Amino acid sequence: MGNDFFGQIDPPQRLLMGPGPVNVHPRVLRAMAADMLGQFDPEMTAYMNETMALYRQVFMTDNRWTFLVDGTARAGIEAALVSLVEPGSKILIVRAGRFGLLLSEIAERIGAEICTLDLPWGEVASLEQIEEALRTHRPQVLACIHGDTSTTMAQPLDGVGALCRTYDVLSYVDATATLGGMPVKTDAWGIDVISAGLQKCMGGPPGSAPITISDRAAAHIMARRHVEAGIRSGDTDNGRGARIGSNYFDLAMIMEYWSERRLNHHTEATTMLYGAREAARVMLEEGLEARFARHKAGSTAMVAGLRALDLTVFGNDAHRMANVTGVWIPEGVDGEQVRQRMREDFGIEIGTAFGPLAGKIWRIGVMGYNARKQAVLQTLGALEACLAAEGYAARRGAGVDAALATCQHGLWQ
Ligand SMILES: *Cc1c(COP(=O)(O)O)cnc(C)c1O
Repeated sequence: MGNDFFGQIDPPQRLLMGPGPVNVHPRVLRAMAADMLGQFDPEMTAYMNETMALYRQVFMTDNRWTFLVDGTARAGIEAALVSLVEPGSKILIVRAGRFGLLLSEIAERIGAEICTLDLPWGEVASLEQIEEALRTHRPQVLACIHGDTSTTMAQPLDGVGALCRTYDVLSYVDATATLGGMPVKTDAWGIDVISAGLQKCMGGPPGSAPITISDRAAAHIMARRHVEAGIRSGDTDNGRGARIGSNYFDLAMIMEYWSERRLNHHTEATTMLYGAREAARVMLEEGLEARFARHKAGSTAMVAGLRALDLTVFGNDAHRMANVTGVWIPEGVDGEQVRQRMREDFGIEIGTAFGPLAGKIWRIGVMGYNARKQAVLQTLGALEACLAAEGYAARRGAGVDAALATCQHGLWQ
């Protein structure tokens, strides 16, 4: 220790197989070790423009407004909602898990009129249910989660954007847990605003929230510009005035900062931008289809292994996310004891659960850099040993063998 009160940061090595954060890709870590640039340095603004171009590909969109909100994924969610919704406006929220509840908590603070399409945890909404709710409530905005990690289910979004346009509704989707691991087809789905984070399938650290915004949503947001935006630009047309209830998360101002006008807002989080840019480069070099296939193969192997240990996988196979799997904690086994053994004896973290699923399921992520054969096999081997230590009679070796067998079927190279 010496004069150094607590010693250097030297975290133990962990294999992070929970629902996020996960281990960061080494190239992203290296990019984040680079020094600062001034925020208007042409090298820095070029990096910003490159980051916008990279994330257009990641989000599968031509949206001009595709950039980063500085903060964790929740910053992207809050920026989207506070910029789309105002006190008294009506928002329809699809709630089928913890993150759907988070959307309504944020909308409530904004003072929006909230209507909900509530589903039991583990279910997803059908297009018919969404249409009926739109017809009944006539909201201005629809908000939902793509992959809700609390339930491990993925909401199908094909047709949702078109439906919203028919009813003249702006749509928002939180794709934090799926971006980089499952297709997030912004333009094909016709979703107006999608936000995400880095610490799930993007293989980066928490702290940056990529976001993409359609032209029609951007027009809505710009019309609500805060008076400060007018002052900064010398523009006397201040739209509808001081309506956006946050300065930091005012997307209109952040957009002007990312535009050619470079109107100062906050200081771009330089190190996070380096990381986000590298995470996207890693993804695009791999190729979107190859990357989605790798996540799918990882989950397929994980599910095969869990089932071979006679464990029951949570939820409907048709809607399970390709990157995080819920598994029922067997009768008589203390879930926290198993997690502790996994961490202490093997250095592996798996996730617990929230709300109605707390203490009932574990959540095992196969995401980003950890969507690898070795990580899946190590996790299954360790889980088997920890279950056995807690008195569960798992078939020894069966989990790893079953996972390996899926690789031999060509699902995983
Ligand atoms: C993990 C996750 C978040 C997390 O937000 P943070 O602010 O980065 O903690 C948000 N939404 C979903 C769907 C998630 O899975």
